[in-house]
Amino acid sequence: MTEPTDPARSPRFAQIATFARLPHTTDLEGVGSAFVGIPWDDATSFRSGAREGPSAIRNHSRLLRTYHLFQKVYPFRVLETVDFGDIDPVPGFLDDTFRRIEDGMRPLFAAGVVPFVGGGDHSITLPILRAQKAATGRPVRLLHFDAHYDTWDTYWGGKKYTHGTWVRRAYEEGLIEKGGVFQVGIRSSLYSAEDVENNARYVDRTFTTEDLDSLGPEGVASALVRAIGDGPTYVSVDIDTLDPAFAPGTGTPEPGGLSTRELIRVLRPLRALDVVGFDVVEVAPQYDHTGQVTALAAATVLYEGLSALARHRSERRA
Ligand code: MN
Ligand code: MN
Repeated sequence: MTEPTDPARSPRFAQIATFARLPHTTDLEGVGSAFVGIPWDDATSFRSGAREGPSAIRNHSRLLRTYHLFQKVYPFRVLETVDFGDIDPVPGFLDDTFRRIEDGMRPLFAAGVVPFVGGGDHSITLPILRAQKAATGRPVRLLHFDAHYDTWDTYWGGKKYTHGTWVRRAYEEGLIEKGGVFQVGIRSSLYSAEDVENNARYVDRTFTTEDLDSLGPEGVASALVRAIGDGPTYVSVDIDTLDPAFAPGTGTPEPGGLSTRELIRVLRPLRALDVVGFDVVEVAPQYDHTGQVTALAAATVLYEGLSALARHRSERRA
């Protein structure tokens, strides 16, 4: 059984931090889903610090409890969740790090284990998607929450791999399905008007914060569920999709974003989707003047993702 350490036996603030106080193991026997930390931030374009994301997420996930009130499910039990530990990056060396991420993630996808990743800057999603494709042979649909497009071509004179280019690279490499790429929460200022057309070449529908205002979180969620359907789907949540009031601990904050509650309202109906991987990235706790609210939001978003998938699996079994 992959149960969190019982807080009635051991207080929440005691023991080594694992995600949700789940057992730490790299043995995938009998495992259905796994938290994986990827502490890497060398591909950021502004403020670094997301290398400290995974440990902060683990620390603040101590508060998560076993039963989800609204999805009516025990996510860790249904999905047999463990903490897989971290993938070691090579600080300063992007190619080596990407190779380690791809090699480290491939066995999980090959075993049908659904990874729930805590980042790390957003560049990590590219090698995760490479691992997914290498293990299964097929691309995935992509649901991308962010303040930013992340479909830019290069930075700093032709550098192709940064946290702002991964969606375009994933598309070019055939890792994500044409017709199956969706964005939510977009609002940042742009480098030029052409960015809008360029983004539309890679993304099938972009729900900006204005679209969220007009459709409401449930309207956006039902449009996503209709458009994505039942194909294998990867969900990537850049924590900067949240307003800096709710997630100040991030490298490129953009005012005017979602509240944590609005994001949860979009995530809950995603119980209809077949999620094969999920990440929460860009958590840089050192910019969080509260010390904890960003990492707690990230842990909660991961819990919502786990619970939505657990509900999906429970319904399919029934
Ligand atoms: Mn972003
Ligand atoms: Mn991003």
